[in-house]
Amino acid sequence: MPELPEVETVRRTLKRTILNEEFKEVYIYYPNIIETPNPDLFKEQLKGQKIIDFLRRGKFLIFELTDYYLLVHLRMEGKFFMRKHDDPLTKHEHIAFLFKSGVELRYHDTRKFGRMYLYHKEDAFKMKPLSELGLEPWDDKLTVDYLRQKYKHKKLPIKSVLLDQSIITGIGNIYADEILFLSHVNPLKIACDLTKKDCLQIIDNTRNVLMQAIEKGGTTIRSYESSEGVHGRFQESLLVHNREHEKCPNCGTEIIKIRVGGRGTYYCSKCQK
Ligand SMILES: [Zn+2]
Repeated sequence: MPELPEVETVRRTLKRTILNEEFKEVYIYYPNIIETPNPDLFKEQLKGQKIIDFLRRGKFLIFELTDYYLLVHLRMEGKFFMRKHDDPLTKHEHIAFLFKSGVELRYHDTRKFGRMYLYHKEDAFKMKPLSELGLEPWDDKLTVDYLRQKYKHKKLPIKSVLLDQSIITGIGNIYADEILFLSHVNPLKIACDLTKKDCLQIIDNTRNVLMQAIEKGGTTIRSYESSEGVHGRFQESLLVHNREHEKCPNCGTEIIKIRVGGRGTYYCSKCQK
């Protein structure tokens, strides 16, 4: 599943490849991907728009256009492929963006869970879903005080709270396990009981883990096609996630898998008391 590092890698790749392209036509084969506006208006508004930049907020990829922001959430399986206009459409290609240059960007999604939103620039950050997002991991406002304030009334396990996109945005299930392991915090620890030291560790390790993953993605991804490739490569360096019954890299204790809030969670019972 694409998390912040994978989305960031896709953002950088698209920016290298299709910056300044101008939309000529949009073909929608599975309209449910378009959350807003309606598909006809979506097509109409995109025509003639030029891509000025690619941004990211949390796990949202954002095309900055002349007058609009096009937000894309890849969810489980969303990917972009570059095609020629006359290349045959494959089974899981649901939207095609034809540019004036003749190249075509296709949105591919085997699960069809991905979503797109097109908003006027002045509205995009004031409306859902962007308005609901918390701080980016590298935001200067992400401090121990900020976390303690947010966690003060949270009587949920920290693992679940780390996945709450309204506090820190961009952390998914895989990286949450890695962050807690490096921070020596038990995933079941109740968020309001976290110490200042725990919060500081979580902030530092969130930044470190995500940055390392971005760097790995940046070196392995060859095109938008390979969010799978990025995932595969980064998995080699995961310390606890998906490593049930393997030895903790710190102390040799067997890694345990539990479920927290319905999500598979891996940790070392000795290092994360
Ligand atoms: Zn350990």
